Amino acid sequence: MRRIPVLILISLLAVTAIHAQKPERPKLVVGIVVDQMRWDYLYRYADRYGKDGFNRMVKQGFSCENTFIPYTPTYTAAGHTSVYTGSVPAIDGIIGNSWYRRDLKRQWYCAEDSTVSSVGSTSAAGKMSPRNMWSNTITDELRLATNFESKAIGIALKDRGAILPAGHAANAAYWFDNATGGWISSTYYMKELPEWVKAINDKKLPDQYLSKDWTTLYPAGTYRQSTEDDRPFEGSIQGEDNSFPHTTSRLTGNRYEAFKQTPGGNTFTFDMARATIDAEKMGQRGVTDFIAVSFSSTDYVGHAFGPNSIEAEDTYLRFDRELGEFFKYLDTKVGAGQYLVFLTADHGAAHIPAFLNEHNMPGGTADDAVIQRWINTSAAKKFGIQKAVESVGNYQLYLNYSVLDSAKIDVNDFKTWALGELKAHPAIMAAYDLGNLSTSTLPETLKTRMTNGFNQKLSGDLQFIFMPGFFDGSNKGTTHGTWNPYDAHIPLVWYGWKIKPGKTNRETYMTDIAATVAALLRIQMPNGCVGNVIEEITR
Ligand SMILES: [Zn+2]
Repeated sequence: MRRIPVLILISLLAVTAIHAQKPERPKLVVGIVVDQMRWDYLYRYADRYGKDGFNRMVKQGFSCENTFIPYTPTYTAAGHTSVYTGSVPAIDGIIGNSWYRRDLKRQWYCAEDSTVSSVGSTSAAGKMSPRNMWSNTITDELRLATNFESKAIGIALKDRGAILPAGHAANAAYWFDNATGGWISSTYYMKELPEWVKAINDKKLPDQYLSKDWTTLYPAGTYRQSTEDDRPFEGSIQGEDNSFPHTTSRLTGNRYEAFKQTPGGNTFTFDMARATIDAEKMGQRGVTDFIAVSFSSTDYVGHAFGPNSIEAEDTYLRFDRELGEFFKYLDTKVGAGQYLVFLTADHGAAHIPAFLNEHNMPGGTADDAVIQRWINTSAAKKFGIQKAVESVGNYQLYLNYSVLDSAKIDVNDFKTWALGELKAHPAIMAAYDLGNLSTSTLPETLKTRMTNGFNQKLSGDLQFIFMPGFFDGSNKGTTHGTWNPYDAHIPLVWYGWKIKPGKTNRETYMTDIAATVAALLRIQMPNGCVGNVIEEITR
């Protein structure tokens, strides 16, 4: 009789010892990327944000107020990759949304993969995978750390916003198909859509959301942060026009392309995130799961209407409400304080140049294709050669070596001449040889970002940098892609599990996110990670 309590004591000690060694982790990690969200949007509309969304994150969470993208170009695929790999295009291989492939003599899309097929659609929209991404992700590392017990799932209207964050070893990634208006995937992940995905698709929620016209949440006259509606420099919703009310109920033809340009696209993404957490029991299984959600409609609206539009303001006010509802859902489903959230962006956006010009501020647009034609025309006159530049993209020139070789033109001579031509362009601030970046006289911040963006195997030969306020694009709407603060300064707010309220104005980087998640979870950082742990958060 006396030996039993001793045995119990020993086994209790053993259990305690095991528990003491097992690292504490949140039940669920929720990575949120708000596509094209500038840092200033956290505050610009704050007086009309509710208490449950952005304001809950900023007041109860930790905000890294000066988070920058440490590379160029600041495009969607590169951004989503960097957030989740903690790496940069020089290392992770995702140097833009697409880039020129010399071997194929064509543009290559960041997620394209001809070896896989669409799941859930007969369109080609599912021929996608993360195989073009060279490094692994924090989601992959969580899977490795738990011997694949943890689930990692990515969701976004944009394929690249779902696929790259979810990682190579993801359980699934789901994105939006313009042909069917539903969520699809690829054979990289599965043979058939799960029943619960078919069920959400069968509800035809995009049709429901489109049937209600997009009107402003508050009376239009109260949008004092924005320019008056219906300006000539605004773009439009496809098949519709550029002013409120946006009569989406009357759209004909392919309405799903237009759907992505409305706040309903974000609503549908929240619907899918909740459905995924419910069906996959994420954060409810005794092991840490990771859901990576990216909201694409903020980007589509931003491109069409610009940061100073009523459309952008209204989209963020609506997003804030839905974010608040999502947190309440997570509180109930996973438990308050049991989930870890970070919210960031893949890039920001410039103001529309014509809008800036109205207020005497500099800005403008120039077109990559026009620059290519112009250099090639000049090269024909100077050297008597045709198509000396094969491609211009991501602010880089790819020279045609075989043309130069056949004409016996020294590549370095040609580069020197072409750089001189480029620098004569009124929109171009600087141009340099990517192979000789270390000897250029660029300011250190730019040099670092260009170096991080330069991939020795994939990038072009010459790089040009536009004047502040200028971008490659059309004169309607806006875009992003440059090193400038409006494109490269992103929000980064942490909230939930073990996060104490606070903020830092110290400069931090997009690449620090994955390193910090790794530290919080006590798992290995991704294999191409060059970021640092944001120590303020781990204290
Ligand atoms: Zn984007």
